[in-house]
Amino acid sequence: MTALGHLINGARVDREGRTQDLYNPSTGEVKGQVSLAAKATVEEAIAAAQAAFPAWRNTPPAKRARVMFRFKQLLEEHTDEIVRLIGEEHGKISHDAGGELARGIENIEYACGAPELLKGEHSKNTGPGIDSWSEHQPLGVVAGITPFNFPAMVPLWMYPMAIACGNTFVLKPSERDPTSALFIAELALEAGLPAGVLNVVNGDKEAVDTLLDDDRIQAVSFVGSTPIAEYIYSRASANGKRCQALGGAKNHAIVMPDADMENVVNSLTGAAFGSSGERCMALSVAVAVGDEAADNLVAKMQESMTSLKVGPFSDKSNDFGPVITQAHREKVCGYIASAEEQGATLLVDGRDIQVEGYERGFYVGGTLIDNVTPEMTCYREEIFGPVLLVMRVDSMEEAMRLIDEHEYGNGTCIYTRDGEAARYFSDHILVGMVGVNVPLPVPVSYHSFGGWKRSLFGDLSAYGPDAVRFYTRRKTVTQRWPSAGVREGAQFSFPS
Ligand code: NAD
Repeated sequence: MTALGHLINGARVDREGRTQDLYNPSTGEVKGQVSLAAKATVEEAIAAAQAAFPAWRNTPPAKRARVMFRFKQLLEEHTDEIVRLIGEEHGKISHDAGGELARGIENIEYACGAPELLKGEHSKNTGPGIDSWSEHQPLGVVAGITPFNFPAMVPLWMYPMAIACGNTFVLKPSERDPTSALFIAELALEAGLPAGVLNVVNGDKEAVDTLLDDDRIQAVSFVGSTPIAEYIYSRASANGKRCQALGGAKNHAIVMPDADMENVVNSLTGAAFGSSGERCMALSVAVAVGDEAADNLVAKMQESMTSLKVGPFSDKSNDFGPVITQAHREKVCGYIASAEEQGATLLVDGRDIQVEGYERGFYVGGTLIDNVTPEMTCYREEIFGPVLLVMRVDSMEEAMRLIDEHEYGNGTCIYTRDGEAARYFSDHILVGMVGVNVPLPVPVSYHSFGGWKRSLFGDLSAYGPDAVRFYTRRKTVTQRWPSAGVREGAQFSFPS
């Protein structure tokens, strides 16, 4: 079986060299291999993008947007196939994979508005007979490096807008589940992108480092874990590139004593365990205010968790599937063990789950841990598995202090019926995306997505209006056409 190759200058390209196994996490079996691009292959992709840039930059924005309209249609026509490709390599259940794709398509819809979004600002008569305008020019070749957990959606956060703004693009998807990203990119070409405008290289650190060091790459968008985000941001910035690097998370939900506990439990169950907790917006910590609320919460959570259905991606009736690899399964189980060792109370233990007929799949069942305290490893670090921690505090101030002191600041939520408390919380909390009785406050495509603190390195968030700012640079032109016959002498003072 040939390893999954690359998409360079409009064509699928296979190269001899290093490969990595691709797994079906639902069964635990190897399903194929992916090529890991050598430096020369990545340079070929960059060269193709560089060559395609002048013509693409000069293509009218409305024509570029028309390609996006066709791209959206093609994705909708191929939804079932894409959902299957995501499920086979990631393991998420088809309804969840469908949701991911739909959110990705919303970013294409936003990119369809590029002609409107790229309109500049114009001022007439900024001086006698002088007009001035600011315009947004594309940067050139930009790169995107993406994580395993949203193999279809996160690339679509990046290149539709980058390309609609007139840039050309090199995407490096996760080497753990690259097939859907490559398939989707081929649909973008089918929609009418000229060769070289969008290129995909599969690979690992060697490919990433090539993108970070090559002078032809003007900007880098990254989404992944915090240590790698920090590395990407430092290296890209040191090389003079614009960079946005989105990292990991630890998202807290404050459960106030007045919250509607039935709704809280339903909402938390989906937000903590959906996609096996492998979401950067997963709610992984419930902070209950007062012991009464905490006792009520854990009792109802335990009851709700008895009906969780875990199994292969292909069975729509499952709530969530496996985690991404055996190594990650062991890591998640290690966090659960450490919580118990460090004194937390393990109420529901998902480590020994057996899925009939899929005994070698990488499953972890829903896990609930009570009495977690701030110094515990399971609290300090991102687990990225179906594990919900419960912490007990005496006041909302204490809950907010916990959140503010955590190194991550991606998402958070407060469950309450008290408008004043909710307003204070959303105004003051040191987190980038806040929900009030909304567990996963992932912004829609016409707002931007980004955390605070060590969840985002850089100044601009992903997609939405910030994407237009990130993928363009401002140029301001001041213009005068002197009337025929009018002559002016030299002026030595600063023009005012
Ligand atoms: P990861 O950091 O391991 O990998 C992300 C990308 O970086 C991949 O393309 C990978 O090939 C590359 N990479 C990995 N190690 C590298 C190295 N040493 N040098 C250069 N490149 C390297 O992340 P992951 O495990 O694929 O994804 C899960 C993580 O992503 C979680 O931490 C999750 O919170 C985070 N995430 C964040 C957001 C967000 O918007 N903030 C969204 C999705 C996922």
